[in-house]
Amino acid sequence: MISFSHVTKRYGAVDAVHDLSFEIPRGQFVGLLGQNGAGKTTTLNMLTGYLAPSEGRIEINGHDLLTEPRSAKQHLGYLPELPPLYDEMTVEGYLRFVCQLRLVVRADVPSHVRDIAKKTGLSDMLSRRVGNLSKGYRQRVGLAQALCGDPEVLILDEPTVGLDPRQTAELRETLKEIARGRTVIFSSHILSEVQSLCDRVLILHHGKMVYDHDAHKLSPTTKMHARILADEKTLLPALRSLAHVTRVTRLPQQESGAVDVLMECSALLPAQKELHTLLSGLHAPLLRLTPMDETLEDVFLRCTQGG
Ligand code: ATP
Repeated sequence: MISFSHVTKRYGAVDAVHDLSFEIPRGQFVGLLGQNGAGKTTTLNMLTGYLAPSEGRIEINGHDLLTEPRSAKQHLGYLPELPPLYDEMTVEGYLRFVCQLRLVVRADVPSHVRDIAKKTGLSDMLSRRVGNLSKGYRQRVGLAQALCGDPEVLILDEPTVGLDPRQTAELRETLKEIARGRTVIFSSHILSEVQSLCDRVLILHHGKMVYDHDAHKLSPTTKMHARILADEKTLLPALRSLAHVTRVTRLPQQESGAVDVLMECSALLPAQKELHTLLSGLHAPLLRLTPMDETLEDVFLRCTQGG
């Protein structure tokens, strides 16, 4: 379990992260999103203990990162955006070395390394030099080193950045496997990746948390696509005057005589009722009405617009 309580990180007059509070329960897979400069890396660096917060408290499994750093970090595995690899070592040599650093019992190291290599698809690569591996395999070695010592909490900073589509798909499958039973916090710019992997989405904007929601049930649907047989000049102002409709966008015409519009609503059901009342008054037949689910991209753009 990870807990941030009123955490601020200040650089001079700038708050890179401001008054951040959230908890991640054991076993949850959380995606951390935000534009460049939103504060993601600062948040992850504080979580690894690399940076100290200016204010607030961070706990990992009940251990304060500042006052009990050893106990807190014992539960932590970290894959930075650029994994710290030693090119001259073999994959096996490197993973054994990391196991030593993470105080894995000496007698257990060989079987632990074999187990991690199997999980990360590196079993056939153990005797290869790290410096000779492709980018995808290097990333796997980075992931494998994060698993040394079997940490309960994994922090992954853009793990699939720079990989080709096949390597990305393979690494995502590996991540799904590895995440089972662990708490994972994962930063990415790839919204579809976050939606497919994560249970929960956090969005940072200018160092503040602006969104915290279930990744599979985003905000309630508030858009609908309507196709109406009517005169556009009368229809559009009438739609815009409805109390629960916040925005009306004309879409390309699909059928002759019909007007297609995208309506954004403050609440879907009241807006639908208003629409039906309006159209019966105008004697304008409704040919189609489709509520549209908000995508993570819609949510992201909405949450990160403006200052
Ligand atoms: P990206 O997606 O580009 O990696 P990010 O969300 O990880 O961005 P951070 O690197 O956490 O963002 O930066 C947050 C803010 O803090 C930015 O405005 C950045 O310029 C500022 N910042 C980060 N590190 C420092 C530093 N050492 N000194 C001064 N300002 C910093």
